[in-house]
Amino acid sequence: MPGSLTLPGFVNAHSHAFQRALRGKVEGGDFWAWRESMLDVARGLTPGQVREDYAATYREMRADGYTAVGEFHYVGFAEAQAAAEAAREAGIELVLLLAAYGRGGLERFRQGSAAEYLRQVEALGEAGARVGLAPHSVRACPRAWLEEIGAYAARDGLVLHAHAGEQPREIEECLAEYGLRPIELLAATGCLGPRTTVVHATHADERELDLLAEHGAGVCLCPTTEANLGDGFPPLAGLLARGIPLCIGSDSNVRIDPLEELRELEGTARRQTLRRNVIPVERLLAIGSAGGAGALALEAWPGIEVDPGHRSLAGVEPADVPAALVHGCSADVLRGP
Ligand SMILES: [Zn+2]
Repeated sequence: MPGSLTLPGFVNAHSHAFQRALRGKVEGGDFWAWRESMLDVARGLTPGQVREDYAATYREMRADGYTAVGEFHYVGFAEAQAAAEAAREAGIELVLLLAAYGRGGLERFRQGSAAEYLRQVEALGEAGARVGLAPHSVRACPRAWLEEIGAYAARDGLVLHAHAGEQPREIEECLAEYGLRPIELLAATGCLGPRTTVVHATHADERELDLLAEHGAGVCLCPTTEANLGDGFPPLAGLLARGIPLCIGSDSNVRIDPLEELRELEGTARRQTLRRNVIPVERLLAIGSAGGAGALALEAWPGIEVDPGHRSLAGVEPADVPAALVHGCSADVLRGP
């Protein structure tokens, strides 16, 4: 068809599929109040429910143009196996980022030791899942755990994802405990490297951005979730100036639309710089696809098609379709494989 366009599939580098259950729930005055609602959902999960609910959420992702997902999973080992089955059923490429959780949260999140955690990762890998390491955060992983997991990552070549710098309180607590900011602690414990993706980095300071660049680490931005939770704006100018690799995630799945994530990124950059075309369209689309694949060490993932007859593309010149996607379309313009 005239104007028909095939694209690499979008890659969702950061998802917590169980949080899809909170869509439409608006109570909670800030991130920490929202977290209580999230913990209530997590408390009641069973492997059977994970299998069913995650398959539905992954089908929604597929319909909205994501053909691969990094599931940052912290709700139990049996549930991780159920997540892998759900992804197979929904036909989405999955990388299971099993979270290490040493303290806080719920009992079901936690392993007894870093060694036990690493055995769980290995067991999932041996069962056929694509796996990555995910020390949940500097809140959930004490320093000794981060050191053990960082050393393992360096040895085994697995990707390593960690939340850092999402909320000011997390930074204050990390400073009080270690005299270091979260990304400084990740660097000091061997958790920063070219296979590392820091999720959010919303409140990273200049020194932390320098550390990310020096270690070749990337950042996953989740703009619809960061907006929904009142996290703040990412330090886009600093990330872009340093050439730090970027990718996107649907995170809490309050919204599942890769085009909206990319539009939010560029819209934020424009508001912050008072300029237009801060991130070129081709680069934005690459952040949404190859950027995520790089973060997950995925070599191949299915492509998608744009519906050239969709009403939101009426009157758009073929050459302008990529920019129209980012600035003027929702995911319903995309067709999965
Ligand atoms: Zn997250």
